[in-house]
Amino acid sequence: MSATKRSIIWFRRDLRISDNPALLAAIEAADEIVPVFILDPTLIGTSGSKRLAYLGQSLRALDESLNNSLHVMVGNQAEVLKELMARYGTTSVHISAEFEPYGAARDLRVEEAGIPLIRTGSPYAVAPGRVVKPSDATPYKVYTPFYRGWCLHGWRKPATVPKTINAVKPKDADRNFPDWPMPDGVSITPAGEKAALERWKYFQKNGLDNYDETRNLAGIDGTSKLSAHLKWGEIHPRTLLLHLGESKAHDTFRKEIAWREFYADVLFHNPGTDQDYYAPRFAQMRYNEPGAHFDAWKTGHTGFPFVDAAMRQLVHEGWMHNRTRMVVASFLVKDLHLEWQLGADFFMEHLVDFDVASNAHGWQWTAGTGTDASPYYRVFNPIEQGKRFDADGDYIRKYVPELAHLSAAEIHEPWLYLDGYSKGYPERIVDHAVERLESLERLKEIKLDKPLDPRA
Ligand SMILES: Cc1cc2nc3c(=O)[nH]c(=O)nc-3n(C[C@H](O)[C@H](O)[C@H](O)COP(=O)(O)OP(=O)(O)OC[C@H]3O[C@@H](n4cnc5c(N)ncnc54)[C@H](O)[C@@H]3O)c2cc1C
Repeated sequence: MSATKRSIIWFRRDLRISDNPALLAAIEAADEIVPVFILDPTLIGTSGSKRLAYLGQSLRALDESLNNSLHVMVGNQAEVLKELMARYGTTSVHISAEFEPYGAARDLRVEEAGIPLIRTGSPYAVAPGRVVKPSDATPYKVYTPFYRGWCLHGWRKPATVPKTINAVKPKDADRNFPDWPMPDGVSITPAGEKAALERWKYFQKNGLDNYDETRNLAGIDGTSKLSAHLKWGEIHPRTLLLHLGESKAHDTFRKEIAWREFYADVLFHNPGTDQDYYAPRFAQMRYNEPGAHFDAWKTGHTGFPFVDAAMRQLVHEGWMHNRTRMVVASFLVKDLHLEWQLGADFFMEHLVDFDVASNAHGWQWTAGTGTDASPYYRVFNPIEQGKRFDADGDYIRKYVPELAHLSAAEIHEPWLYLDGYSKGYPERIVDHAVERLESLERLKEIKLDKPLDPRA
């Protein structure tokens, strides 16, 4: 009788069983699979408690889908995989390809240690590096032409769901599920593939068809809230793209998915830009040192209601609305004159959906130091943004109880009203009009007086 053939599937940020080509490849290659997740001390060290708690739940959900066969291992990845390969007599390891700098370097290290990795699929509809300018095969630096190229390139249909999964039973010692508790008072989105598919269904029914109109309104449930699910690969973008038609709302949603892919592509071609300025000249700008203002920003006590609501949402939910991500980022860089990396690191600590490419380039775009057409001199007005995108003040009221007694007309400018500060809301730490001009002065010092030419 021939020996049972086994293959390892190493899960990382593809924590699902449907539409998972790497899992299908592992199943096809063997009689039994060995599903494994390896806890990475480096990533754990840079993830805040909310993201860890989410990951812990997601691993449990994946394990359930795999009939309790997930090996959750601790240790150096190459050593863990070598040990499993020897134990189960496998010769290779299946993965979904990584493109961001840390994951790609880790996979290379594992290969250099003598472990053959078989890459099938990636966390993207179109893998980074594939969409290039037809004229000279160089990467796109601007989003809109990238989007056109990305659509023309197209993507595969979702992969099938495996009919059966035969997996080896792990030993008790291989079931090192982390015990990462949810911090007190925190309320994050439920983790796992099932939750992702349910949320997608709910959004298709209740939000998608109006997405173009509602996506900017911070106080309503008008966006998909799939970012954490996408980050951990509990759902694949292909699954979302399959259901999109040609209406304006659907097209707008497709374009947002494409921003994620664009930024992954930009980081792939410019691997240092998770920390470095995409447009290097901005490194020479005069910035302030972080101090009391930075602390006020982090805790949501700047005295600007829309900014404070957003920062408190981040700390409370591990998520922030896209509109307010832009507003608080602009405020940090252009009102407080702090470097974008400080804010990006704080987001990294708190976001459950933290994605190195979308975060760094979302920050750089807003700071005006990155790709595309947001010039440095575009300064978001935190008061006008609030009036426009939270007109009735519900968003502020939800996260800033000190302002909950104010009407829609009052809540964006409590300093104009007698009882604006009666419940302990802090006064403004800066004057927006003054800081806007200061920001433009500093821009002049590095002699950039026109829209940013990336890499100029
Ligand atoms: C300063 C800043 C930091 C950000 N950091 C992150 C991050 O760490 N992780 C992250 O996933 N997104 C980040 N974004 C992008 C965006 O804010 C979030 O993806 C979005 O708010 C998630 O909510 P949603 O799933 O409801 O989005 P939806 O509006 O429903 O969009 C659907 C999906 O499209 C993608 N998407 C939407 N907008 C963007 C965008 N501007 N850039 C890239 N992808 C986008 C996301 O995967 C999102 O889940 C950042 C944006 C800014 C301005």
